Amino acid sequence: MSIFQTARLKLTAWYLLIIMLVSLSFSAVIYRALTIELERMSRIQRYRIENRLRDTVVIPLSENFPPPLPDPELLLYVKNRILTMLALVNGSIFFLAGALGYLLAGRTLTPIADMVDEQNRFISDASHELRTPLTALKSTMEVSLRDKHLSLAEARTVIKESIADVDTLQRLSDSLLSLTRYQKPITNSFEKFSLRDTVVSAIKQMTPLAEEKHITITGPVVDHTIFGNRYSIRDLIVILLDNAIKYGKNNGTINIHTEKKDKGVMLTVSDDGIGIAKKDLPRIFDRFYRADTARTKNAKNGYGLGLSIAKKIMTAHNGTISATSKINGGSTFTVTFV
Ligand code: ADP
Repeated sequence: MSIFQTARLKLTAWYLLIIMLVSLSFSAVIYRALTIELERMSRIQRYRIENRLRDTVVIPLSENFPPPLPDPELLLYVKNRILTMLALVNGSIFFLAGALGYLLAGRTLTPIADMVDEQNRFISDASHELRTPLTALKSTMEVSLRDKHLSLAEARTVIKESIADVDTLQRLSDSLLSLTRYQKPITNSFEKFSLRDTVVSAIKQMTPLAEEKHITITGPVVDHTIFGNRYSIRDLIVILLDNAIKYGKNNGTINIHTEKKDKGVMLTVSDDGIGIAKKDLPRIFDRFYRADTARTKNAKNGYGLGLSIAKKIMTAHNGTISATSKINGGSTFTVTFV
């Protein structure tokens, strides 16, 4: 039996125990009250009859005359009927509460079970992603160590490459940490801040990378006030700019646009790069998902975590993130704050 099933049965048993304790206590009180009332009623009835007979009948009143009212057998019969009815009601409550309790226990535990499943999946995905580069790194070092004729220059090259691999692994662990950070609510760190300032700061950080590919970033003109966590929104813009540069073409342009929309604010990041295939679009926000093309599958580009972090950030802000794209026609990522 799975842990979920055992926990569900235990929770049902607790629900049932509490309901039956309440129901049986009420039944005992009802039974007691009814029998007391019955006995009191028979005493009053007997007293009234005795009074009426005292004036009319010549036979002296005794223990046996008039006979006890109501008949003791009848009293026992009524008491038994009450007991049977209460047992029936309690039996029905037992089965009904059992079934409902089982259903409710399932409903209470499902989100927890889903969370545990999600965490297990996350751990296994993360270990899988870490395992491959670590194995590659280890075998490169082992081969170099076994090579008796390895020159100093070759050794330096191996070390340089290994450091680059370690850097990538460090980025992966940073991204994994970011993902787990956004599992928890961040609303207590919310404040009002200028979207324009945040965009400008993100552009400043990404400019050296953009310059390597001679990409121009055109920034926003209009300012808007946002209520949220300014650092995570900056992270989100950096992720979108990083992708726009990675998958953008040399000498291209990236445009950031902000606009007031209904009750909220919309931010778009558009590039004129390689674009995303229609079949990949619904999955790019999934953890570790990378579009399956030779152009994007390059370990140096990333591990498919950026957009899932971006989505978590927007979910934490009660906002949305979506993408439109065309192969070789560029991509536009739209973020909406409500
Ligand atoms: P990665 O680290 O691989 O960039 P992301 O989660 O940021 O991970 O993106 C997931 C995938 O979505 C990428 O591997 C890429 O295929 C695609 N993608 C994201 N942004 C863009 C973009 N601006 N242009 C083209 N493809 C993109």
